[in-house]
Amino acid sequence: MSGKLSVVGIGPGAQGWVTPEATAAIAEAEDIYGYGNYLERVSLSPRQRTHKSDNREELDRARAALARAAEGARVVVVSSGDPGVFAMAAAIFEAIEAGPQDWRRLDVEILPGLSAMQAAAARLGAPLGHDFCAISLSDNLKPWTIIAQRLEAAVEGDFVIALYNPASRARPDRIHDAFALLKARKAPETPVAFARAVGRVDEAITLTTLGQADPGLADMATLVIVGSSKTRLVERGDARPWMLTPRAYGGGA
Ligand code: SAH
Repeated sequence: MSGKLSVVGIGPGAQGWVTPEATAAIAEAEDIYGYGNYLERVSLSPRQRTHKSDNREELDRARAALARAAEGARVVVVSSGDPGVFAMAAAIFEAIEAGPQDWRRLDVEILPGLSAMQAAAARLGAPLGHDFCAISLSDNLKPWTIIAQRLEAAVEGDFVIALYNPASRARPDRIHDAFALLKARKAPETPVAFARAVGRVDEAITLTTLGQADPGLADMATLVIVGSSKTRLVERGDARPWMLTPRAYGGGA
């Protein structure tokens, strides 16, 4: 089989965050699959065929891309951020696992990208400087009971928590449920950040505390970071303070 399938992370937004490797793979592709908004962020030539899809059709998109690669085409599947973080790489391997045997022999590669939590952390200072976890609040693929259990375990473990998929039009309430759970278990002064559309023109960063946080600030384009008991703010006059989770759990320098 001569086809090839590359699952390419294009980072969270800023052009400078797209790796040279990702740019090269996209330039070489004959067929490009992805969510419409992501395809708008890459430069394409007229000879390249694009296959736009809805964000929730991930498995269908994976199957279509694999079938095209099996025909011998050079195929790219574009993913936002890193393709391995709540994104297309897993959908591709799920499709391979359940698909025809010859898909297993395809030349598949995953090209990493900068994930939203890294971009958000860079804007904020160093909130992920010590142990952290990432939890998706989307209950499309797992029940709320599991999400709640994981949030509780993350609080118990005193991890910094990066929340992906905090809300969408179809699920406006989960972030409120999540904050109710966190507020009942963590100190109200815990630093919390809402990092929206990081690296895009409409980027907006809000730094607050758990006690004062308005979960309604979170939408589909927002990454929420909730501090651990050691996370603190480094004040710097009128500028937004830096958010710091020190390297040592004792809290010292
Ligand atoms: N693979 C992606 C995550 C896809 S899940 C990655 O590694 O970043 C989609 C979620 O990612 C969004 O709901 C939001 O929580 C987060 N996200 C993606 N781009 C973002 C950006 N530019 N700013 C803030 N959060 C972003």
